[in-house]
Amino acid sequence: MDYFEYKNKTLYCEEVKVEDIIAEVGTPAYIYSKNAIISRYQEIEDAYRDVNTTICFSVKSNSNLAICKALADEGAGFDVVSGGELFRALKAGGNPSNIVYAGVGKSDGEIRYALENDIFMFNVESQAELKHISALAVKAGKTARVALRINPDIDAKTHAKTTTGKKENKFGIDFTAAEKIMKQSGKYPNVDLCGIHVHLGSPIYSADPYAQALKKVSEFIQRCRKMGRNIEYLNVGGGYCISYTGEEVMRPADYAAKIIPFVKEMQCNMVMEPGRFIVGNSGILVTRVLYTKEASFGKKFVVCDAGMNDLIRPALYDAFHRMWPVTTNVKMPAVEMPGDKVVKKGMEVVDVVGPVCESSDVFAKDRALPKLDEADLLTIFSAGAYGFAMSSSYNSRPRPCEVLVDGKQFRVTRKRETYDDLIRGEVR
Ligand SMILES: *Cc1c(COP(=O)(O)O)cnc(C)c1O
Repeated sequence: MDYFEYKNKTLYCEEVKVEDIIAEVGTPAYIYSKNAIISRYQEIEDAYRDVNTTICFSVKSNSNLAICKALADEGAGFDVVSGGELFRALKAGGNPSNIVYAGVGKSDGEIRYALENDIFMFNVESQAELKHISALAVKAGKTARVALRINPDIDAKTHAKTTTGKKENKFGIDFTAAEKIMKQSGKYPNVDLCGIHVHLGSPIYSADPYAQALKKVSEFIQRCRKMGRNIEYLNVGGGYCISYTGEEVMRPADYAAKIIPFVKEMQCNMVMEPGRFIVGNSGILVTRVLYTKEASFGKKFVVCDAGMNDLIRPALYDAFHRMWPVTTNVKMPAVEMPGDKVVKKGMEVVDVVGPVCESSDVFAKDRALPKLDEADLLTIFSAGAYGFAMSSSYNSRPRPCEVLVDGKQFRVTRKRETYDDLIRGEVR
C-alpha cells in the first residue's frame, strides 16, 4: 500500500506517523494522502493521453471539499449525482464546464440549479426526465447538453448491490427506447443530444464488460449518426477497481487498452467518471480498541470505537477491508485474501466489531490479527472511497473527522462532529 507504509513497526501516511496524527485529532479518524490522490488521478490522465478526455471525479465516492479542491487544482472535472454534490463541486472550485450530472431522480429544483450554472452535461436516465430538462431549459433560456445514459444490459460481475448496467437495474435507458428518443429529438427543444453515457457498476475487475458495452454502444452511435444526430461525446463512466487485498489488479492503462480503440473508432471525445480508483486506497480509517471480550465458547471479539455508521461497506456490501494495528511487531503480509487465516506468532483470530446496536456492525469475522489490547490503534485500509461519504450519525454517534496529509504536513479538513452538530436544526 504505497503512501501508507510501516517503518520501524509503525504506520506512516506519507512522511507523518499515523500515531502522531491520532494524538492530535483522536479516533475514529479518516486519514487521506493528498499525493496518493493526485498520483492516481495522473495515472488515469496518462493512460488516456491518446484521446481527448475529460476526467470527472465521482464526487459521491469522497465529497470532502479539500479532496475535491486538490483534484480541481489538477484540472479534474466532477461527476455529480445531486444538487448537493453540484454545490460541493462548485465550492471546491470546480469548473462548471467540466461537471456532468447523473442520477435517475433529478428534481426540477436540481435541474434548474444545474442549468443556472451551465454545467457541461446532463446524463439523462429516462424520457420523462428529458421532458423536464427540456421544459426547464426553455424557461431558463438555456440549452442543456445531454448524454443519454444507456443501460447496455451487461453484467459487470460485481456485487449485486453495485451492479448498474443490467436491464433489471433502475439505471439508464435501453437501446430501443434511446433510439426512439434520438429519432424524435425535435420533441425536446433547448436540448442538445450530443452524448452517450454508460456506467456499468463498481468495482469492475476486468476490461471485458467495458468492451462488451462499448461494442453495443458503437453500433448505436452509428445508427444515431445515420439519423443525423451529432454524437460528440462518449462517457464511459467509472468502476475501475482497486486492490482491497494487496494483490495486483487491473490498472487504468489496462482498461485504456480496451476502451481507447472504441473511442477512436467512434471519433468521439471521451468523458470518464472515476471515483474509487482515485480515492479508495488513498485513505484509511483509524479506530481505537475499546474492549476485548472472550465468549466462554472461545470466540474473541475486539470492540472498537468506529462502527458501521462510520464505514458501512462491510455491513452493506460484505466488503473486505484489510486491517492491521497502527503499531505492531508483527509484519503485515503483502497480500491477504478474504478467508485467509494465517496465524503467526503473536496473532490470534478475532471478530472486529463496532459499538452500534446492530448485528451487522462487524468489520471482520474470524480475522487473523496481531493480538490487540484495550487502547490499541487499528487501521482499516482502503477506506478512502465510499467511506466517510456513506457515513451517518446513526445511534447519535458524531461522525469522525477527516485529515489530509501532504508530505510532512497534515491538517483537519473536516472537524469531528459534536453533540451540538447532532441536533442542529431540530426543535423540541
Ligand atoms: C458511482 C458512479 C461512478 C463512480 O464509480 P467508481 O467505481 O467509484 O469509479 C461513476 N459514474 C456514475 C454514474 C456513478 O454512479
